[in-house]
Amino acid sequence: SVTPTQVSLRLRNVTFAYSPQAQPALNAISLQVAAGEHVAILGRTGCGKSTLLQLLTRAWDPQQGELLLNDSPLSVLDEPTLRRAMSVVPQRVHLFSATLRDNLLLAAPGASDEALADVLMRTGLEKLLEDAGLNSWLGEGGRQLSGGELRRLAIARALLHDAPLMLLDEPTEGLDAATERQILDLLADVMRDKTLLMVTHRLRGLARFNQIIVMDNGQIIEQGNHAEL
Ligand code: ATP
Ligand code: MG
Repeated sequence: SVTPTQVSLRLRNVTFAYSPQAQPALNAISLQVAAGEHVAILGRTGCGKSTLLQLLTRAWDPQQGELLLNDSPLSVLDEPTLRRAMSVVPQRVHLFSATLRDNLLLAAPGASDEALADVLMRTGLEKLLEDAGLNSWLGEGGRQLSGGELRRLAIARALLHDAPLMLLDEPTEGLDAATERQILDLLADVMRDKTLLMVTHRLRGLARFNQIIVMDNGQIIEQGNHAEL
């Protein structure tokens, strides 16, 4: 089927527990995200933020309720369509034991070296490109990346994937304030007409978001825009 050009999301009363014995990680969550909206997800550690994003990638299925993408249940989308619809920056970024080029091409097979260099510049990884080059070997048996470089590599991948929906789990964790600002500016620009959900612990930059949700204990306890909260 056709990749959507715009993505709206809807969660209806979604409850999910990792096991029958566990407390639900998400407890009757309802949420509506219009196409093109930017949503920040806040809340203390363990409250269910990553779980929420993971359900949107269909890593897990809810025990109750449903998730809709453009008014279709997530469960009926075929896998390629689902993958093309979303770019994901996970909380724990995986570095493949491969060249820098191949670590990027995973997200965008066939992208030119110029396109890869461009996205590395835009994510502040020009030093990595200059020092090491696209042929440099990363990961096991090669160059290890700093936490901040790894996060920016994941953002570079997500930008190359160029999907109408982006899910980011603490993308600026461990970045200094200036780099964080550069990344937030870049995302605001690139994702202008696209849908973005970002988990963050940072209170800086929240005015950019259309919707802020605060979670606690698997539930949404506050919701609104920056002026309202
Ligand atoms: P943080 O800010 O620390 O990243 P979070 O809000 O992202 O926290 P989640 O990772 O969604 O929190 O976890 C929600 C709850 O589910 C926690 O109690 C956590 O221990 C539990 N949990 C998360 N992943 C798993 C898993 N794979 N198996 C079992 N329990 C899990
Ligand atoms: Mg998390």
